[in-house]
Amino acid sequence: MKGEGMSTANFPSLVRAVVSSSVSNSWHVAKDEWAVTGVEEDPQGDGVCVCGQMGLVSLFTITNTHNGSELFPIGSTCVNQFGRKDLNSAINVLADLLKLRGLVRAGKSIPFTAEYFSRAMLEDLYEEGAFTPDQYNSGDGQKDYDFLLKMFNKRNKDDISTAQRRKISVLVNQKIRPFLDADPRLG
Ligand SMILES: [Zn+2]
Repeated sequence: MKGEGMSTANFPSLVRAVVSSSVSNSWHVAKDEWAVTGVEEDPQGDGVCVCGQMGLVSLFTITNTHNGSELFPIGSTCVNQFGRKDLNSAINVLADLLKLRGLVRAGKSIPFTAEYFSRAMLEDLYEEGAFTPDQYNSGDGQKDYDFLLKMFNKRNKDDISTAQRRKISVLVNQKIRPFLDADPRLG
């Protein structure tokens, strides 16, 4: 990964930047105060991480859940330094959502395949409210989520019926597409 070799050298700078915006003065406590809350892309790679590392293409925002401070931009290598599985998963999900949003903005179709979707992403979409209540899910968005997860988990895609394919397409185009278009986390 770009700039990975620099991560160790920049670790003290990362710690300084994070701790100075945290409630705790200790890195080991402060690192647990943060959540990943946004991502945007800079294809030119002009982004400079809070640790000083240059050449960032994926620019993440992290937010302190205790005092509301935000740090931007921060690179994935630095987020990995927090040593938290939930943050690592969040950067993957947000990067994948941004890729999908690119298709939406380009007016392209969204294939419901493992190339574009993941279980973690479906869970995120559900938790963030993408599956709005309506008459087809009896007012319970979890039904949409459960359905898509079940379809996603099917090992043999030939087992998906025509009616199920139609329902997948409706959920992707009428729920996920507008949600991504308006998702404030995607810059
Ligand atoms: Zn960094």
